[in-house]
Amino acid sequence: MSICAPIGVWGGTFDPVHFGHLRTALELCQQLKLGQVRFVPCQQPVHKDRVYATAEHRLAMLQLACAEQSAFYVDDRELTRNTPSFMIDTLISLRKEFPSIPLALLMGSDAFVNLPVWHRWQQLLHYAHIVVVNRPGYRLEVGSKLQSMLDKHKLDHANGLGRQLAGGILIQTTTALDISATLIRNQLRANLSPRFLLPDAVQAYIQTHQLYS
Ligand code: ATP
Repeated sequence: MSICAPIGVWGGTFDPVHFGHLRTALELCQQLKLGQVRFVPCQQPVHKDRVYATAEHRLAMLQLACAEQSAFYVDDRELTRNTPSFMIDTLISLRKEFPSIPLALLMGSDAFVNLPVWHRWQQLLHYAHIVVVNRPGYRLEVGSKLQSMLDKHKLDHANGLGRQLAGGILIQTTTALDISATLIRNQLRANLSPRFLLPDAVQAYIQTHQLYS
C-alpha cells in the first residue's frame, strides 16, 4: 500500500549545475512518481579536493536552473550549518521534517560505487531509499561490502519506494548524458562555449560573474 509520493534528494557540488543533473532528475521524477526533487548543494565537499565557485554562486545557479520546474526545490540546509556536508546528517534532518514521507537519495553510479567511504554509510538506508542511475563512463562495479548491502536491499520495482519510508536500493535507467561539471569548467577555461550542456540562464550567470575562467 502506498504511503505518499517519495521525495527525491539529489546532493552534489553543482559546480555548476548542468543538464546531466537536471534531465536525469526530471526523468526520475516522472519514472518514480516523486512528489519533488530537492537539490542539496554541499558546503565543503567531503569526497572532493575542492570546489571552484563559492557556495553562494553554486546556490544561485541552482535556483536559476530550477526556477521553472515546479517539482524541483533547492534545499540550502548544508550551506546553513557549520558542519561538514555529511549526507547522513542531511537525511536525518529531512526525516525530522518529513516524518511520514519516503525519501529517495538519488545518485549516479560513480557516487554509488564510492558509498563505503561516506560517513556512516551503512545507516543511510535507515533514513532513505537509494536510487542509482547509470552514468556514462562509470560501470556499476561494487566491492563485497556494497554488494552484500545491494543483495539485501535491492528493489525489483519502483513501486517499492512508496511502500516503506526507507531501506530499499533501486537501480534505474535514465537517458545517459555524458556531461559533467568538470567538462564545462574545462571548456570555459579553454574559451569554448558550454552552450547546450547547461541552461542558458546558468551560462549567462557564469559569464556575468566571470566564474571558472
Ligand atoms: P564534477 O565534474 O565537478 O566532479 P559532477 O558533474 O560529477 O561534478 P556533482 O555535483 O559532483 O557533478 O554530482 C552530483 C551528483 O550528480 C552525483 O550523484 C553524480 O553521480 C550525479 N551526476 C552528475 N552528472 C551526472 C550525469 N551526467 N548523469 C547522471 N548523474 C550525474
